[in-house]
Amino acid sequence: MVGSLSVLSKDKIAYFSMEIALSNNMHTYSGGLGVLAGDVVRTSADLKIPLVAVTLVSRKGYFRQEFTPDGRQIELPDPWNPEEMLEPLPNIVTVQVEGRDVRVKAWRYNVRGATGGVVSVYFLDTDVDGNSPEDREITSYLYGGDERYRLKQEIVLGIGGVRMLENLGINIRKYHMNEGHSSLLAVELLRKYDLDVNRVRSMCIFTTHTPIEAAHDKFPYDIIKEVMGEIIPLDLLKKLGGEDELNMTLLALKLSEYINGVSKMHRMVSQEMFPSYEIHSITNGVHSYTWTCESFRKLYDKYLPGWAYEPELLSRVDIIPEDEIWQAHMEAKRRLIDYVNSVTDAKMDYDTLTIGFARRATAYKRHTLIFSDIERLRRVAKRGRIQLIFAGKAHPRDELGKKMIEEIFRYKQALKDEILIAYLKNYNVGLAAMMVSGVDVWLNTPLPPLEASGTSGMKAAHNGVINFSVLDGWWVEGWVEGITGWAIGPTPEERACMPLGEQIAMEINDLYGKLEHVIIPMYYGRRGEWIKLMKNSIGKLASHFNSYRMMYRYVTEAYL
Ligand SMILES: *Cc1c(COP(=O)(O)O)cnc(C)c1O
Repeated sequence: MVGSLSVLSKDKIAYFSMEIALSNNMHTYSGGLGVLAGDVVRTSADLKIPLVAVTLVSRKGYFRQEFTPDGRQIELPDPWNPEEMLEPLPNIVTVQVEGRDVRVKAWRYNVRGATGGVVSVYFLDTDVDGNSPEDREITSYLYGGDERYRLKQEIVLGIGGVRMLENLGINIRKYHMNEGHSSLLAVELLRKYDLDVNRVRSMCIFTTHTPIEAAHDKFPYDIIKEVMGEIIPLDLLKKLGGEDELNMTLLALKLSEYINGVSKMHRMVSQEMFPSYEIHSITNGVHSYTWTCESFRKLYDKYLPGWAYEPELLSRVDIIPEDEIWQAHMEAKRRLIDYVNSVTDAKMDYDTLTIGFARRATAYKRHTLIFSDIERLRRVAKRGRIQLIFAGKAHPRDELGKKMIEEIFRYKQALKDEILIAYLKNYNVGLAAMMVSGVDVWLNTPLPPLEASGTSGMKAAHNGVINFSVLDGWWVEGWVEGITGWAIGPTPEERACMPLGEQIAMEINDLYGKLEHVIIPMYYGRRGEWIKLMKNSIGKLASHFNSYRMMYRYVTEAYL
């Protein structure tokens, strides 16, 4: 049983994140960043880490996804009811937006750990009497609107968040920025502490999450001046955040004492992007209990009691009998297949090798890599039947992502007599939990080195689902060929001196070659070997790639 880390200090760590995924009916997240934030909060509650979290209420959610019959994504509002789930607080702070005073209120949600720890999450909300109708909408749509809208949200999150914590009387020892969206908190701290850059740096921690330059928020200074005004002198802001435009990542880098990437590979890539900063790596993890399905929870409780609060115990998975592992897996698989058959006309069955792929539908994730050579895919499926289950939302402005989904709908039709394919709508944490436990193989084909970490494969491992993945992000650290799963394509070292075309050809070749000659034959012919790999996923991957290890490292390296 874990001890109490709350003895560390009465002061709190303030964890700021634009999105936090706490439950399926709180629509305050869009993908992995928010899910990670949710796992940070849950883990901190379990470990009694003195932490509070700050985010936006996002009343109208991200969006609810529907499809036309040919796979065109339809985006519908996805509102939720903070009133039903959160505790309203009387506190009001103000921030300046376009020269107006905008009033910000907060809602509290207490996440209780199974050990009695509590982490409060504060949801900031501008839907307050006295605000203009436009300002009341600032905290409505997660990642919605234009550049100005985004900047207003970041003002509320960063500046409003710091002011709200102060108003609530919570003493903060460190501010942790989960991605650059909350960098303005450091600007507010500069204002508060007489522009003392060193003092602010000593209080800030920054986790960067993407090596994609275009994904780092940047704002032109004319918009900054109009929307935010001069919170600190403009020349200082430019010195910290860039001369030409305000780069939120740069701002966070310059104002943080501890900076980290989310895997060793991502640290290396980030270090190259930002050579003048020391970047650490704390590889992401997932909250073991949350991401383990019911049947495996029961199994672990029986053979590895205490596993949920000491996930290292999962390394002793070999004491669980093979047939019980298989039964637990089949229970999860039947649940998923029943769900797929209830919402699609796929008519999938329990015994076919089932491959899952679900993540945000954006180009670098390459949902369609497995369809690169249709004739070859047909031949692979003749070796042994396969069925494919996809899910994932494309951002409303991501036309390439939407096209990728439409392509899958076309392949689904073209291959319907040979390979059953389903694209499930409205990927969310509930569907993720069902998919990462219910498939046999978890497929991951991002274009390296763009997947900073990836966490869904870690969730799969907790359920004995085997990873088949490009060597990027966390998988570089987790992969042992044929032991913990299988690689697709070259290692980072091999990649370094390989033209992109050759790399992709090798990826496609591995994808089909390993399916045909390794994965399908083992699944249908050598069940004992298969179960050994399932156990290795649990014993060698889940025991390490969990959020307890991650948070212990944050505490000892960054928070203390
Ligand atoms: C875990 C999760 C993600 C992140 O998955 P990646 O493999 O890191 O892309 C995204 N969305 C949801 C709903 C999740 O549960």
